[in-house]
Amino acid sequence: MRLVPGAAMVLLLALSACSAPAPEPAAATPRSITAAPPPDAAAEIPSPGDLPAPAQREPAPAASDAAPGPTPAAAARHADPGAVDLVVNKRRPLVPLDYVPADLRLPEVATATDRALLRPDTATAVEGMFAAAAAEGVGLVLVSGYRSFADQDSTYTYWVGEYGDPAAADTVSARPGYSEHQTGLAFDIGQADGACTLVLCFRDTPAAQWAAEHAADFGLILRYPLGFHEITGFSAESWHFRYVGRDVALAMKAAGTQTLEEHYGLPAAPSY
Ligand SMILES: [Zn+2]
Repeated sequence: MRLVPGAAMVLLLALSACSAPAPEPAAATPRSITAAPPPDAAAEIPSPGDLPAPAQREPAPAASDAAPGPTPAAAARHADPGAVDLVVNKRRPLVPLDYVPADLRLPEVATATDRALLRPDTATAVEGMFAAAAAEGVGLVLVSGYRSFADQDSTYTYWVGEYGDPAAADTVSARPGYSEHQTGLAFDIGQADGACTLVLCFRDTPAAQWAAEHAADFGLILRYPLGFHEITGFSAESWHFRYVGRDVALAMKAAGTQTLEEHYGLPAAPSY
């Protein structure tokens, strides 16, 4: 098993929505991670110097965007947290906010964290995608999976403290109850050699390019594509994938539809 650099390990635990590229890992040499991280996420947050570099980021949605929220009818659609057609964004919180998936398992793939649990359907999709990539000489590693409401709460609180402003924190971190990672349907990948883990340059790696091209075959979509932050609410994340089922993923690919909001005819969610 190959692991990403330790510094990236710290960062992936700190970033919540993966909504912002993290700073470059400080450690250039991969090392084995033999000990589980402490249970307190707050103990693993990066130093102030580890704040995302604004220059690396796609323009963030403005907090003052006045896009209308979902109508009651729209809000009721795609709102079952146990269904694969669930849509979570800044206008569509999980119900309940502290939702916990009923069934989670660890996929049998290379991981860089002990927080890699996923729903069984998503775990199976990950295993299929990673095996197919490996067969074509592309090494993938799972760097983040399910995160609980409490994990997200600690992370979001940390970013609010760092920025001193919730509006600024909202550009880099999802509020608890609003993160796809809390559903067990979303995960972040890295390249097996740790190159560009959770940072903008990941999109240029063979791992990211292979995954983007083949994800639909496994029922997966790139959830936060480049240039669609006014719809998704988050900057581009070439590492964040979401399980939606093969029919939906292939239909979106065939139609060239980039976001789940557009596919399901739901309102854009540029801000809370
Ligand atoms: Zn993510």
